[in-house]
Amino acid sequence: MDRISHEHRSWNMSKIRSRDTTPEIAVRSALHSMGLRFRLHNIGLPGKPDIVLQRFHIALFVHGCYWHRHPNCKYAYHPKSNIDFWSGKFSKNTKNDKVVRRSLRKMGWHVYVIWECQTKDPDKLRLRLKRIFSPRSQL
Ligand SMILES: [Zn+2]
Repeated sequence: MDRISHEHRSWNMSKIRSRDTTPEIAVRSALHSMGLRFRLHNIGLPGKPDIVLQRFHIALFVHGCYWHRHPNCKYAYHPKSNIDFWSGKFSKNTKNDKVVRRSLRKMGWHVYVIWECQTKDPDKLRLRLKRIFSPRSQL
């Protein structure tokens, strides 16, 4: 098997694995512990936000730093081979993310991205979520 098709395959695998990832589970349990109720993978909305909090009109995306290119993040490193292939994938991802956020905002949603690296420390994650929710609730 050549290299490109191998990487294509891992790309497809990464798409398939994109549900119920560790970072998503971390965000869900943090929200649970804050007493917040939410829905998952709202397929009726653009980009199928990972977590939707209807009551606050908030759509959350839990993004992998590598695939979605978290700015200035060490996990969003640049691959050393097949650079054209990867930069094509990356720019497609980031463009699509932008389009999705814009259409959700037009529909009146507040859109937030929780980056994978922000989910590694439960205390920091709770702080990040509190910053999102505290202006809107009694947390
Ligand atoms: Zn990151």
